[in-house]
Amino acid sequence: MHNAGMQARTYLRASLVAALVVISLKLLAWKVTGSVGFLSDAMESIVNVAAAAFALFIVRIAEAPPDADHPYGHTKAEYFSSGIEGLLIGVAAVLIMIEAGHRLTHPQPISDVPLGAVISALATAINLGVALWMLRGARRLRSIVIEADARHLMTDVWTSAGVIAGVLLVPITGWLWLDPVIGIAVALHILSEAFSLVKRSVDGLMDKSMDDDDLAGLQAVLDRFRSADLRFDHVRTRVAGTRRFASMHLHMPGHWTLQRAANCRYAVEKALLEAYPGMSVTIEMLTSAQESLQEENAQMSVHAECSQQHPAPQQD
Ligand SMILES: [Zn+2]
Repeated sequence: MHNAGMQARTYLRASLVAALVVISLKLLAWKVTGSVGFLSDAMESIVNVAAAAFALFIVRIAEAPPDADHPYGHTKAEYFSSGIEGLLIGVAAVLIMIEAGHRLTHPQPISDVPLGAVISALATAINLGVALWMLRGARRLRSIVIEADARHLMTDVWTSAGVIAGVLLVPITGWLWLDPVIGIAVALHILSEAFSLVKRSVDGLMDKSMDDDDLAGLQAVLDRFRSADLRFDHVRTRVAGTRRFASMHLHMPGHWTLQRAANCRYAVEKALLEAYPGMSVTIEMLTSAQESLQEENAQMSVHAECSQQHPAPQQD
């Protein structure tokens, strides 16, 4: 876990250094041409740096081991990072649209376009390389922070590609409105990216369950234990950054010895941890006939007719 955190920081530091180089190049492209497209492109990169620095800070918190104040760990801190990053991208998109709208109503000629385009293309190539490298790392480390940062860089690549194409066409066609129009189109793409990042954070903070593939895998593990004697129900899962949580009931005959029941519970927990290393598993042992009180209360309001299957506690 600690090692993964160190690797995550390596990715984020690299993206930070790359972003500083990219910003310098993009500001140079703006200075050379006076294009509002290049200016807004540079502005998006500045947001990148702020977001990457913040992500670096958050990863330190997320990797901290559980403590007395936070017994379930600190992995949810990652959702602050992706949420705020989504908001920052959204703000950048709106700023680009405002600037482009202004340029649309006040057309201005731009100069030295080929030189500016070459400088911006160099910056874009650096961004693309770093983004692809980070996306691979994010999948390997299962880190939403790195993924958010890499996606952010990818939107930067899209922005730049659109801006370079648009600005190059301006001197060829003489259409001064083309530069701001392409800027607005790219800003809309960035907005959708921002929306999906914010949605992801909300899902995490709202304790969304593991995805369908993981849920099917978990049920497959439980299927290996299901029998006439053993029943699982009230299976619940949630994901917090890189950590997974699962809780469930394990119902078994009331006449079993506690040792036999504990051995059974242990075997289930072991199988689950083999399938999902690092998962936090809570298995509540119950008799076949008895349901836990909180579940019974929750069920009763929804399925009153099922209460017949959950008779009152008896002395086992
Ligand atoms: Zn149950």
